[in-house]
Amino acid sequence: MDNVIILRYGELFLKGKNRGFFERTLIKNIKEKLGKFRCNFSAQRGRYEISEYADEDEQAIVAAMKTVFGLQSLSIAKKCDSDLHAISDIILKNIPENATFKVKTHRADKTFSLTSPQVSCSIGEIILDKLPNSRVDLHNPEYEINVDIRETGKTYVYTDKIQCAGGMPVGTAGKGLLLLSGGIDSPVSAYMMSKRGLTLDAIHFYSYPYTSMQAKDKVKELACILSDYCGSMNLITIPFTQIQETIHKYCSADYMITIVRRFMMRVAEKVARMRDCGCLINGESLGQVASQTMQSITVTNDVVKTMPIFRPLIGMDKQEIVNISTAIGTYETSVLPFEDCCTVFMPDNPVTKPTIARAEAEEQKIVNIAELIEQAIDNLEIIEIKIQ
Ligand code: ATP
Ligand code: MG
Repeated sequence: MDNVIILRYGELFLKGKNRGFFERTLIKNIKEKLGKFRCNFSAQRGRYEISEYADEDEQAIVAAMKTVFGLQSLSIAKKCDSDLHAISDIILKNIPENATFKVKTHRADKTFSLTSPQVSCSIGEIILDKLPNSRVDLHNPEYEINVDIRETGKTYVYTDKIQCAGGMPVGTAGKGLLLLSGGIDSPVSAYMMSKRGLTLDAIHFYSYPYTSMQAKDKVKELACILSDYCGSMNLITIPFTQIQETIHKYCSADYMITIVRRFMMRVAEKVARMRDCGCLINGESLGQVASQTMQSITVTNDVVKTMPIFRPLIGMDKQEIVNISTAIGTYETSVLPFEDCCTVFMPDNPVTKPTIARAEAEEQKIVNIAELIEQAIDNLEIIEIKIQ
């Protein structure tokens, strides 16, 4: 087949001097995705093109390109010489005899002998001549035929524009450490921050034997699904049992969750610094549970001193989060029924308005905080999650 896939990018244009870096990163990410297909990729000014692929790979390539952040839209096009009859022949082969249509021309090649409106009119006339039952409809056509005349002497003809993921190429905004639980929210927050160009590492706390090994596998599976969008990442697992048992033993039950979360943040910040991550990312959404009130967030936030914590879901409803989770394919895995360590030793009535002073007073009861943190980090494991 002589189809080609045209890829378009958007926001990158805004980036002035950095444009070269953004484009190089985008091209690298696209090529990484195309690695498993036999095809040709070329980058010309303002347009990327995939060609010479097998018919049966077309939909899989389209699906893969829809996961690349930085791409705005794509079209499956036919390519021919920039010649009115060649262009018309393609259109005649691809629209029904009695279609309503509109021709829209874009002429990047300013040396082409006709202006864009003249090209549209001429092609329209040829179609009407060859298909007398067809009709031009400029407002609500069944087929909007785009004719894109490039500087290369070639023209693309296509009808549909398929929406891609938008955002910025992964790798253009630095690296962040995602706090990845097995729930619905944190995978969505990963998706949203990678969309702004962050590469990720993920950290997961597990409390074996209170949580099962399947819970860890589930998180690994989530990281694999995410790597489709976020790229390859390292999943760092941290044994958390001893920390939780210690908090449970010494601290007041209503502050259990607050202090557990402060420990998670302390460990995460240290690991982030070890791995050159410049921010933490979590899936908190204001008011969703006791640990996500403004006061709770203030108290957990307080232990992180050297980097921002990004919470892309902070203003979203659960249903909005579920919708994204379903669209990116993490939902089915997220709802598998394995316990997260946050549920271990949880009191019935966690405090919803904790204070920093009281949290600090509770933590005073634990003498070896630094040691507990060091020990957890000493026992971390790193699982490499490779882009599929
Ligand atoms: P999620 O659906 O992401 O699990 P949640 O609504 O269950 O979120 P919490 O359990 O309070 O909320 O967790 C809030 C955030 O803390 C999570 O989104 C995640 O970023 C982080 N988190 C919770 N548990 C873990 C864990 N075991 N390992 C790593 N991060 C965690
Ligand atoms: Mg959770």
